[in-house]
Amino acid sequence: MHGPLIATLESGGTKMVAALASGPDDILVRERIPTTAPKETISALVNFFTQASSQFGQPEALAIGTFGPADLNPDSPTYGHITTTPKPGWSHTNLLGPLQKALDVPAIFDTDVDAALFGEVTWGAAKGLKNAAYFTIGTGIGGAVMINGHLIHGAGHPEMGHMRLKRHAVDHFEGHCPFHKDCLEGLASGPAIQNRWQSPAEDLAPDHAAWNIQADYLAQACLNVLMIAPPQKIILGGGVMHQAHLFPLVRERLTDLLQDYLSYPELEDMDDFIVPPALGDNAGLLGCVALGQRLLRD
Ligand code: ADP
Ligand code: ZN
Repeated sequence: MHGPLIATLESGGTKMVAALASGPDDILVRERIPTTAPKETISALVNFFTQASSQFGQPEALAIGTFGPADLNPDSPTYGHITTTPKPGWSHTNLLGPLQKALDVPAIFDTDVDAALFGEVTWGAAKGLKNAAYFTIGTGIGGAVMINGHLIHGAGHPEMGHMRLKRHAVDHFEGHCPFHKDCLEGLASGPAIQNRWQSPAEDLAPDHAAWNIQADYLAQACLNVLMIAPPQKIILGGGVMHQAHLFPLVRERLTDLLQDYLSYPELEDMDDFIVPPALGDNAGLLGCVALGQRLLRD
């Protein structure tokens, strides 16, 4: 049994993935479009959605999970815009407007990590949980938190990739974030690892000194989330987490940092507390489906 058909867009700095889908076993069509200049990219997306709808059926809603920062406030005049991104040409781009106009259906606009977390809560590793967090560790670092079933937004959306951390004692890398240098993203994103060690993260051996430092930073990030908005599970995804040996290191370091201070039952089994995404590359797409279907229900 499928829910309503949703037009989905995972909007990334390198690529856009657009699809029509109604559930995990019903992805009717999916297309990858490179993120070039906004005008060109958006018109390719409009073409895709128009053609796909005539071939596979009209979607009932549009759901976008985007890179940011983005304006997610429906009451704002710039709702649906990418705001101050360092991505050339994309600052202050209205992404939602032209797509919603083309499809003429209700729409939801959220972050890429919110979408991934919502996908995991609906069909994946955090299925059925009301409190969960997600970090994606790739070209950048993004984070999302769900509390009592709500993805938290505020005056803006969470920017957990830019939290400050205590430096690891032996790490002298100055940091890679163009805004803050040694924030979480500046210290632990894929490009940060590459710049620190002069080698792509994927080429560093599992026993390389890089991974203890990396695990320390990720464990600190998890600790900070735990202290602010306690999740029942933390999902770590993104390219860097393809290094499966990082998971035990992060769990061990987090256990160390916690010092038995918190005593939720969920923390007793670290293997089940810090986990990879279960939906893999489909987390964002399926999260958009779930967000679109929720929009139609509410
Ligand atoms: P993006 O963030 O651009 O959507 P990814 O999540 O794949 O894409 O992140 C890309 C980053 O992840 C790059 O910096 C790359 O070096 C790193 N990365 C990709 N695959 C691996 C891997 N198997 N092991 C470690 N790092 C990886
Ligand atoms: Zn930063």
